[in-house]
Amino acid sequence: MKCFRRVQCCRYSTERRVRVVFFLCVTQHHLFLPDKEELFQNVLTQVAEQFSRAFKINELKTEVTNRLAMLEKRVELEGMKVVEIEKCRSDIKKLREEMASRNNNHFLDDNKKLTPRRDVPSYPKYHLSQETVEALRQPTFDVWQWEPNEMLSCLEHMYHDLDLVKDFNMNPITLKRWLLCIHDNYRMNPFHNFRHCFCVTQMMYSMICLCSLQETFTQVDILILMTAAVCHDLDHPGYNNMYQINARTELAVRYNDISPLENHHCAVAFQIFSQPDCNIFSTFDPEAFKQIRQGIITLILATDMARHGEILDSFKHKVDSFDFTDEEHVTCLKMVLIKCCDISNEVRPMEVAEPWADCLLEEYFMQSDREKAEGLPVAPFMDREKVTKPTAQIGFIKFVLIPMFETVMKLFPQIEDVMVQPLRESRDRYEELKQIDDAMNEVQKKKSENLTMGKKK
Ligand SMILES: [Zn+2]
Repeated sequence: MKCFRRVQCCRYSTERRVRVVFFLCVTQHHLFLPDKEELFQNVLTQVAEQFSRAFKINELKTEVTNRLAMLEKRVELEGMKVVEIEKCRSDIKKLREEMASRNNNHFLDDNKKLTPRRDVPSYPKYHLSQETVEALRQPTFDVWQWEPNEMLSCLEHMYHDLDLVKDFNMNPITLKRWLLCIHDNYRMNPFHNFRHCFCVTQMMYSMICLCSLQETFTQVDILILMTAAVCHDLDHPGYNNMYQINARTELAVRYNDISPLENHHCAVAFQIFSQPDCNIFSTFDPEAFKQIRQGIITLILATDMARHGEILDSFKHKVDSFDFTDEEHVTCLKMVLIKCCDISNEVRPMEVAEPWADCLLEEYFMQSDREKAEGLPVAPFMDREKVTKPTAQIGFIKFVLIPMFETVMKLFPQIEDVMVQPLRESRDRYEELKQIDDAMNEVQKKKSENLTMGKKK
C-alpha cells in the first residue's frame, strides 16, 4: 500500500513518475499475491492513465505550439491584408474622384445642359438703360457689377446693335436660347467662367465700335468675331493644356495633345449649334454655314497661348502693308483681335482689372497644387511658392500685351489712348508694387538676420 501511495503522491516529473510506477508494477506482478489482483488492476489503469496523460501533454504542447505558429502566421497575413485593404481603399477613393471629375469634365454626360428649350428662356429680362448701352461700347465698362441675366441681356443687345440679328435674319428667341445655353456650358472656375466669356465678348464689341470694324469688315467677319468670342472657352475645366497633356487626360488623348482645350471649346460650341433650338445660323445656306464654322474654329484655335509667337509674327509681317481685301490678312487680323480681347483684362481700369489677376492666380494655384499632389511638372508662373501678383503681371504686360497691342495700334491708332495707354499705366503700377514688395522683403530679411545674430550672442 505504502508504495502505491508513494506512486500516487509522487511529485516527480511526469516522465520519471511513469518510469517509477512501471518498475513498481512489474515487481508487484511477480511478488504480490492473487488477492491483490484487483489493486494491481487499479494500478495498471492508473499507470495507463499517467502514460496517456504524459503523451497527451506532449501532444498538447505540440498542438499549442502549432496553433501559436498558425496564429502568428495569421496575424502576419491579416496585417498584410490590412495594409492591402488600406491601399485598395485609397485606390478606390482615387478612382472615385477621377470618375467624378471625368463626369464633370465630360460635356456629353451632362444631359441637362443640352436639353432642348422650346420655350422662351425664363431668365428675367434685364432692360438696359441708355447709360448702360453707351458704357457697353467702352473698354472701361465695369464687368463686375452685373448678374448673369444682365450679362445675357448685354450680349443679346450687342448682336442686335451690330445688326447681326437683322442682317442674318436670326430668330431673336433662338438667340436668347443660344445665349442661355452658352451660359450653362461655362463652368464655375475662378477665372475661366461665364463672366470671362462676357468680358472677352464685350471687349470685342468695344473694339468693333472703336476701330469702326464694320466699315472694313464684312458682316460675316463681325459675326465670326463676336460668336468666337462668346464660345471661346466653353466648358473650360480650369486646368490648362499643360496639365491636360502631362496628366494624359481624356481631352489630351482625344486631341493628340494639339490644343486640347481650344479644340474642346470649339467642339462644344458646334454641339450647341447642332441643336435646332440653339442654332442661330439656321437660316444660313450650307456654304455660308461652312464659312462661318471655319471662321469660328480658326479664331477659337488661335486663342491657345502656345501659338502666341507664331500668330503675332505672322501679323507683324503683314501689318505694314496690310490689305483688307486679302483674305489671309483679314483672317490673321481677326486671330490677333480675339487674342487681344482674350487677354485684355489689364486694358480695363485698375479696379476692374485687378480682381481678374487674383482670379487667374487662384486658378493657377489650384492647378499647381494638384500637379504637386499628382507628381506632375509644375510651371513656375503657377507655383504659389514662386510667383507674386506684381511679378506675374509685369512680365505678361511688358512682353505679351504691350507688344501685341502696339502692333494692332499700327492699323488702328485710335486704340492708343483707350487701350495701350492703360496697359503702360498698369505696367508702371505693378512695377511700383514690386518695388514695395522687394523693399518689404529686404526689411524682413534684415530683421530675421538680426534676430539670429542676437541669439548667437
Ligand atoms: Zn479666354
